Amino acid sequence: MSNPFLQHAQRLKTDFLEREHLIFVDGKWIEPSGRERKAVIDPSTGEALTTIATGDAEDIDRAVAAAERAFRGDWGRMVAPERTRKLLKLAELIERNADELATLESLDGGNPVTHTRYGDIARAIDVLRTAAGWTDKVGGEVPISDSRSGSIAFSIRQPLGVVGAITPWNAPFLLSMFKIGPALAAGCTMVLKPAGLAPLTTLRLAELMQEAELPPGVFNVVTGDGPVAGRALAKHPRVAKIAFTGSTEVGKSLVVDAAGTLKRVTLELGGKSPVIILPDADVEAATEAVSSVLFFKTGQYCAAHTRLFAHERVYERVVAGFEARARALKIGAPLAQDTQMGPLICESQRNRVLKYIEAGKREGAELVTGGRSISGKGYFIEPTLLANTRPDMSVVREEIFGPVLCVTRFSDDETDSLAAMANDTDYGLAAAIWTRDLGHAHRLARTIDAGIIEVNGGELGALSFGGFKQSGIGQELGRAGVEAYTETKAVGIKF
Ligand code: NAD
Repeated sequence: MSNPFLQHAQRLKTDFLEREHLIFVDGKWIEPSGRERKAVIDPSTGEALTTIATGDAEDIDRAVAAAERAFRGDWGRMVAPERTRKLLKLAELIERNADELATLESLDGGNPVTHTRYGDIARAIDVLRTAAGWTDKVGGEVPISDSRSGSIAFSIRQPLGVVGAITPWNAPFLLSMFKIGPALAAGCTMVLKPAGLAPLTTLRLAELMQEAELPPGVFNVVTGDGPVAGRALAKHPRVAKIAFTGSTEVGKSLVVDAAGTLKRVTLELGGKSPVIILPDADVEAATEAVSSVLFFKTGQYCAAHTRLFAHERVYERVVAGFEARARALKIGAPLAQDTQMGPLICESQRNRVLKYIEAGKREGAELVTGGRSISGKGYFIEPTLLANTRPDMSVVREEIFGPVLCVTRFSDDETDSLAAMANDTDYGLAAAIWTRDLGHAHRLARTIDAGIIEVNGGELGALSFGGFKQSGIGQELGRAGVEAYTETKAVGIKF
């Protein structure tokens, strides 16, 4: 059977990847003032796909000026139904180009194409369509007023203005859409700086924005280094908000940089999410769900459940289940349709993951399977299972961002302290609970400090989400996600 993604890859190699990619400002591709170019590497081969521009503070300034003009002009004045129409047109164009976008995302980031196509890109289209429906549904309130007082008080919401978005490399298209959809629906305009390791679908998205005839300046893209272009955005006096997804470390530095102008910030940061498997759980379903989520992005997924607590009565089955799945996993070329796990993003990420595995072994964890890099081209690594882990081990405490699962056993005596065990972390992004006792699941869901809780693999749809503790500030998606791009104003009128 022919593979459509390989055909797209061929076309991309003779067209899109051949181009000299510039920065996208005011609806046009322009030369950056920063002259340096950076290679974008295919993580499955280690070879360069193309090069990108390295924008600097001056480029950010030009992009912010364009976004400001669009905010004060066409986009700001556009009526809500027209904004909805434009965003829906963009969603349709993305859908029409979904196979090509998935191919590009997989070449760039190394994730299996079936995942990028039917996971990330498909979800991004849904996110954009849902956001398009919010343009006229977010507003202020009019409290019950006493008309005898001769005045009325009400609040209105208005868009913040220019938003600076900074995105990571692990799911660049989807995570940028988490920001673009709600921000544009709210009436804001945007300057986006994608991660240098996987910027290509963001550049392609800018082309689709042109095709969708979004007014110039509504959406601008400046590729460049985080400490230069990203910081310039965070510090820029005319950027009203920074919407960031990335590491906790960079998130903290952004808060400091944004403080100078008291910008609004939304931060979606790292995680070390627990999964609890109780003795009455469907162990097969639990191991299947946890392993597929861990492996589909080679563990480079912020909400992956990497800290597993298994009750002693099911512990051996859980470990055996993961081991069997890890050993049977089809690891290989991201564009092959039967690939289940691709490479890590780069060599330094692979070294980091291997270092953690060594530290885990040194600290007394049992290596059940995996633990080594896979020789040959690209940054492949074996799926790894560390058993008998303890809460004090670095592999349990720190975010590894690789396909490494840590399994800890608990007994009946410890069941009452499960929430405390799950909460024994600086992070609070996600948690999963597997049990047939929904009362127990509810109690745990209330006491675990995490922004996303899945019980028996339940999905969250279009709900708002955000991290607790050091996993973030604020929420994305849903009503709260759109409101996060607005400011509220209270108005009193005497009559
Ligand atoms: P990163 O923090 O290194 O980089 C993210 C972005 O920030 C990139 O565009 C980078 O260029 C930019 N950047 C780097 N230094 C900067 C600075 N000083 N000022 C401004 N911008 C700067 O993260 P990453 O390695 O690209 O992504 C992995 C991390 O992202 C993991 O920690 C993961 O958990 C997290 N993540 C979180 C979520 C979530 O929703 N909570 C989702 C995906 C990834």
